[in-house]
Amino acid sequence: MSSRAELLQNKLDALLTIASHNEQKQTHFQEYELNLLNSSGLFELLTILLESHQVQFQLTEVTLILLDPEYEFQRLLDSHTIPSSWQGRLLFADSEQSLHQDYKVPYRPRLAEFIAQQHQALFSNNNTLRSVAILPLIRQHKIIGSLNLGSRQVDRFQAGIGTQFLQHLTAVISACLENARLQESIKQLGLRDPLTGVNNRRFFDQRVIEETSLAQRNNTPLACLFIDLDHFKSVNDKYGHQAGDNVLKQAAKIFNDIMRTSDILARYGGEEFVILLTNTPLKTAYEIAERIRKTIASNDFIISPSQSLNITLSIGIAVLDETKLITTSQRLIKVADKAVYDAKINGRNQVHHAI
Ligand code: GH3
Ligand code: MG
Ligand code: MG
Repeated sequence: MSSRAELLQNKLDALLTIASHNEQKQTHFQEYELNLLNSSGLFELLTILLESHQVQFQLTEVTLILLDPEYEFQRLLDSHTIPSSWQGRLLFADSEQSLHQDYKVPYRPRLAEFIAQQHQALFSNNNTLRSVAILPLIRQHKIIGSLNLGSRQVDRFQAGIGTQFLQHLTAVISACLENARLQESIKQLGLRDPLTGVNNRRFFDQRVIEETSLAQRNNTPLACLFIDLDHFKSVNDKYGHQAGDNVLKQAAKIFNDIMRTSDILARYGGEEFVILLTNTPLKTAYEIAERIRKTIASNDFIISPSQSLNITLSIGIAVLDETKLITTSQRLIKVADKAVYDAKINGRNQVHHAI
C-alpha cells in the first residue's frame, strides 16, 4: 500500500473508532435517560442523579441544587433517610437570588475551568476539581435549580463542547424533577390534612397498626394521646369559623413543636388530634401531655391583627398494656378517647389516663 493510501486507511480507522465510540456514548446516554424517566419517585430520581450519574459518566463530583423557597422538596424528603454521602451535594436555595448570588449559578450552562472563588459553593466537598459544568435546570422558562458536574480532568468540560448534549440532559432532568415533585405531593395530599398540614386520619389509621405491632415485637411501650379542644364550638360561634380554622392551624403547630421527631401527629377529625408516642412509658407520656396542655392554655391565639383569644384542651392517654387488655390499635385509641371523655366531665383543661 502506498503511503498515501496507508495514511487514508489510518484516518478512516480513526474516524470509525470515533464513530463507534460516539455510538456507545449515545446508547449509554439513552439508557441513562430511560432510567431517569422510569424512576418511581423523588428519592429514586435523586439517587440516580447523585449516585449513578457520577459512576456512569465517570465524573469526580456531581452536586444538585434545588430552588426550594417553600421547603416543598425538603418536606417531601422528610420521610426518607438521606444518605450521608449526599451531604454538601444535595443543596437547597431559598430564593432565585440566593441561587445566583450565593451559589453563583449562571443563567446559561457554563462549561469551564474550575475556579474556587466561583465554584466552591457548589462543590464544597471536593478540592481536586479542574473543570466543571454548571447546568441550570429550567422548567417553563423558570429556573428550578442546577446540576453541577465536576471533573479532575482539565479538558473534560470546555466552553462549547458537548453543550447541546448537556442541554438535552438537563431538560430531561428538569421535567423529571418537576414530575416527581408533583407526583409526590399528590401522594402526600391524600395522607395530609389540608388545613393544618399535619397527617390526616387515613394516615394515622395505617400508622397506628404498624406502630402497635412494632411496639409489641420490640417489647417497647407505645402511648397514644387523644386531644380534644375544649368548647371549640363556641370559638366558632363567637369569632367565626375562619378564626376557628386559624386556631386549629396554630394549635397543630404547637403540637408539632413540642413533639419529638419520632412522634406521630395526626388530625383525627374536626377539633380532635392524636399523637402516637413511640417507645414512651405512661409517666413520660403524661409529662408530654401536660406540657402540651399548659402551652396551649397560656398561648395567645392570634385571629386578626388586633385580636387574640385563649383556649384550653383536654387530653386522654392510653398505653399498650397486656395486663389491662390494651393489646390492639383499636383498643388503644378507644381507651384514649374514653380518657378524654373523663377529662371533659371532670372539668376540661386537664390530662387523664386510663387506669
Ligand atoms: P367539648 O369541650 O365538649 O369538646 O366542646 P366542643 O364544642 O369542642 O365539642 P363539639 O364536639 O360539640 O364541637 C366541636 C366543634 O368543633 C364543632 C365545630 O364547630 C368545630 N369544628 C370542627 N372542625 C372544624 C374545622 O375544621 N374548623 C372550624 N373552624 N371548626 C371546626
Ligand atoms: Mg370533639
Ligand atoms: Mg371539643
